[in-house]
Amino acid sequence: MPELPEVETVRRGLAQACLGVTCLGGEVLDRRGLASPQSEAAFLHGLRGQTFVDWQRRGKYLLGRLAMMASTSRTGEGHEPGGWLGVHLRMTGQLLWLEANAPLQKHTRVRLFFEGQRELRFVDQRTFGKLWWVSPDQTPEGVISGLQHLGPEPLSPQFSASYLQERLRDRKRPIKSALLDQALVAGLGNIYTDEALFLSGLHPATPGSELTFSQLQRLQSAIVQVLETSLREGGTTFSDFRNLSGVNGNYGGVAWVYRRGGQPCRVCNTVILRLKLAGRSSHFCPYCQPLTSHLNPEAKNNFAI
Ligand SMILES: [Zn+2]
Repeated sequence: MPELPEVETVRRGLAQACLGVTCLGGEVLDRRGLASPQSEAAFLHGLRGQTFVDWQRRGKYLLGRLAMMASTSRTGEGHEPGGWLGVHLRMTGQLLWLEANAPLQKHTRVRLFFEGQRELRFVDQRTFGKLWWVSPDQTPEGVISGLQHLGPEPLSPQFSASYLQERLRDRKRPIKSALLDQALVAGLGNIYTDEALFLSGLHPATPGSELTFSQLQRLQSAIVQVLETSLREGGTTFSDFRNLSGVNGNYGGVAWVYRRGGQPCRVCNTVILRLKLAGRSSHFCPYCQPLTSHLNPEAKNNFAI
């Protein structure tokens, strides 16, 4: 699933390619790609004649702000707000910016046609990805329920060791599961949580409430480090992620543990293990990321001896 660096890579591509261009109409090939409005006609009517004036990202959501420009607006003066296009790529969704009428990819769900013979295409093999058109008299949070309970952005000052300590104080659940919870922090998924836990030397099953302040400081800075590294590489090579031009990222070449189960740790040569936590795979090095003595009675006894 695309995580923050992948979604941000797509946002940057959209902000370069898909601003100031007016939507001439579109075609919905598969309604499963639409979250709201569910009517194809209402969705396309909302976008027709609108121009993208900004592309934002919140967690794993993309939000394109729309406006009706002066030449096409009803009053002919200035420009009127045109609402938003919301996008969540989920597992396999891709946005592609192409020449109009480029050969159709398999699993193309929605096509939006733009002036200048260009086309924004939503392709999604697994059909979990969604598009929303939010009308100008509503807010994105009012229509896209997933935006309502998002935690802070991990690259923002609000995401600090103190914040983590406060939010994890009473949480017995494994730190890996806590980090995947979008209400704790927005935009992380399996890849970057595995990588950040490795860099901070924390076992993924450690209960969040047992982490010390200095461990939380290490974790917070490791999260920032892995996200910034991947952003520089244009997102991950894993999963079906493609940028706006259909090109894969480069991050996989530098992964420490993610999907490296059975291979030697890059630091100590111990074999990387895979562990299921709340239905999700975690990859970790048992030497570099030991269980704490509290969690492991055997280790505790050894320590006592
Ligand atoms: Zn190791």
